[in-house]
Amino acid sequence: MEVKKADFLGFCFGVNRAIDIVESELNKKVKLYSLGEIIHNKDVVNSFKQKGLYIINSIPKNLDGKIIIRSHGVGKDIIDELNKKNIEYIDATCPKVKKIHKIVYENSLQGNEIIIAGDSGHPEIKAILGWSTTKCHIIKNLKEFLSIDIDKEKNYTFVSQTTFNKNELKTIINLITCKKLSNITIFNTICDATMKRQEACTKLSKDCDLMLVIGGKNSSNTKKLFEISKLYCNNSYHIENYKEIPYKNINKNTIVGVTAGASTPDWIIEEVIQNVRKFKLYNE
Ligand code: SF4
Repeated sequence: MEVKKADFLGFCFGVNRAIDIVESELNKKVKLYSLGEIIHNKDVVNSFKQKGLYIINSIPKNLDGKIIIRSHGVGKDIIDELNKKNIEYIDATCPKVKKIHKIVYENSLQGNEIIIAGDSGHPEIKAILGWSTTKCHIIKNLKEFLSIDIDKEKNYTFVSQTTFNKNELKTIINLITCKKLSNITIFNTICDATMKRQEACTKLSKDCDLMLVIGGKNSSNTKKLFEISKLYCNNSYHIENYKEIPYKNINKNTIVGVTAGASTPDWIIEEVIQNVRKFKLYNE
């Protein structure tokens, strides 16, 4: 019976930091509001709601507490609005995402158009867009990059979503280099945590009969892990918790690999592993 865990999986530094901030504020008995869900994991969000965290989707006129800005960050307009309304807030934006905001803000102020590789519907991308003062192009792959009409007379700044697929990014950067597009300044802003999880997932999925990729269905980095896993292990499943384990596809001989997105806490991973182990034991 074997259940293998990826070398890198689960909570990353940025998510851990945001969770710690929320916990410490809730302990102070401060009335706390999160602008959007604090992380893409409904089990964690529900447990915080029970402890008194309120989720809001826009900034009210007045607030009887503090607002927490989640690790995905927000656009400059939101920060300006909070300051204008004199609402107290705690910025739990991941420092790696903050760095992208700074690049986009400073480069766009210099007149560069911004190219962002990522998912246009994701909150991280919406926040990055909010720091640009110039035109932005959002692309999700090489094909979309090729559809941008690059003007040799203009300067561009290229950044990527922290969870962007590293192989896709490599292809785009190779093309920029081959075409000698020196008017595009590239910043590789994929996060190490994401890369490590993607590499560990690649390695593990090659060795397993079945892969369980644990994380919120709306978690971008979990979806990327699932795509990678499927490339090497046809029998891959994206599950949110132990209740979704595909038992009918597991038997005593199945080598089960387990990985998890950056917003999946240890206790959810352990619950999955324990349940798979128990099931395999009963079937031996
Ligand atoms: S995946 Fe990276 S960028 Fe995103 S929150 Fe975690 S540490 Fe920050």
